[in-house]
Amino acid sequence: MTDQTGSSSPTGGSRPNQTRLLDGEPHGVRGARGEPPGLRPTWVEVDLDALRDNVAALKAHAVAPRLMAVVKADGYGHGLVPSARAALAGGADWLAVALAEEGVALREAGIDAPVLVMAEPPVPSAHALLDHGLTPAAYTPRFVATLDRLGRERGRPVAVHLKLDTGMRRLGVPPADWEDACRVLRSSSGVRVEAVWSHLAVADEPDHPFTTEQGEVFARGLELLRAQGLAPDLVHLCNSAGTLIRPDLHYDMVRPGISVYGLEPASGVTGGVTLRPALAWYARLSLVKRLAEGEAVSYGLRWSASEPVTVGTVPAGYADGVRRALSNQGTVLVGGLRIPVVGTVCMDQFMVLLRDLPAVAGDEVCLIGEQDGVRVTADDWAAWLGTINYEVVCGIGARVPRVYLGGGS
Ligand SMILES: *Cc1c(COP(=O)(O)O)cnc(C)c1O
Repeated sequence: MTDQTGSSSPTGGSRPNQTRLLDGEPHGVRGARGEPPGLRPTWVEVDLDALRDNVAALKAHAVAPRLMAVVKADGYGHGLVPSARAALAGGADWLAVALAEEGVALREAGIDAPVLVMAEPPVPSAHALLDHGLTPAAYTPRFVATLDRLGRERGRPVAVHLKLDTGMRRLGVPPADWEDACRVLRSSSGVRVEAVWSHLAVADEPDHPFTTEQGEVFARGLELLRAQGLAPDLVHLCNSAGTLIRPDLHYDMVRPGISVYGLEPASGVTGGVTLRPALAWYARLSLVKRLAEGEAVSYGLRWSASEPVTVGTVPAGYADGVRRALSNQGTVLVGGLRIPVVGTVCMDQFMVLLRDLPAVAGDEVCLIGEQDGVRVTADDWAAWLGTINYEVVCGIGARVPRVYLGGGS
């Protein structure tokens, strides 16, 4: 880690210009990319070819013949519709979303691939779901009864994905209710069980015995359903971690999310699959200033210069997903060097310690991604913030424009 005291040598790295002192001549560091897409110079770049290739690699790795790409939460912050299109181009057979609204948005964009809505919506939303040809997950008697009625009214049984709770204890029918669920489903002519599925709680911890236990509970559930005459065409269980490292649990379809975007579900959980992060986040320095010894920065004056230094302002803040917990913590890249965040992160801006780097306003800042062969990753952010890469990419605000690279098709 770079020291953040404002003393000692220039910040990290080994670029030749790092020791050049600011001399009033605005030579700048560099700005490798094209013009920012918006008025405010911060933007996310999403490489749709990477996303497509990740899906293709996951599908090639899977024992299961089918893949359902999870594109909930605006495609984990990458953009719902472009991510969905790139995933389909990579060979995804199904898409999965968390909300009916997300499924409707896919349909309104003209995507006609099968879409699973993974949580039951409130009962009054069931209509909208069916009107848009979305496939509901089902696990409560009340929702099944609603779908049954709608299916009979419409003269066509509603295909559902029956979710079993095998130990996650979030959604799904718990084992004690499986027999009852079978009874209800057998007597519901307006509903057809197209698939049975469940969700793994600790697949990202390769040594945890609970995944195998969940697999056994799931297998028992399937057996019971078959014995009751509810034989599904389709069985799916595995999230990214399961897809990558539990081929014994793949069944007919895998259901990866985070790995579609090129991120590991947990550090080192790759199953030997090469993934490429699809997302990068850039900005341009909006202001560069020289501070005298003892001068402090930002709200609370929580960082001060212990010698004369250059500080830059980056036009992105916690309203954009640069979490306030990154205050005096974490680094960005400028000119291929690791540059520490100094002072409190504000709503729309934060400051970085350029020290003696001859940077000027307009120079490129890499928040997540690669610059001159040096990387800052969502995993780095997760480590600084005590969270997971999922939360980092999902947390990039809607007001940061997304730029799409590659066709993904
Ligand atoms: C989010 C989600 C997934 C995808 O999980 P990843 O760890 O991102 O691969 C799969 N299934 C369900 C039910 C989910 O909620």
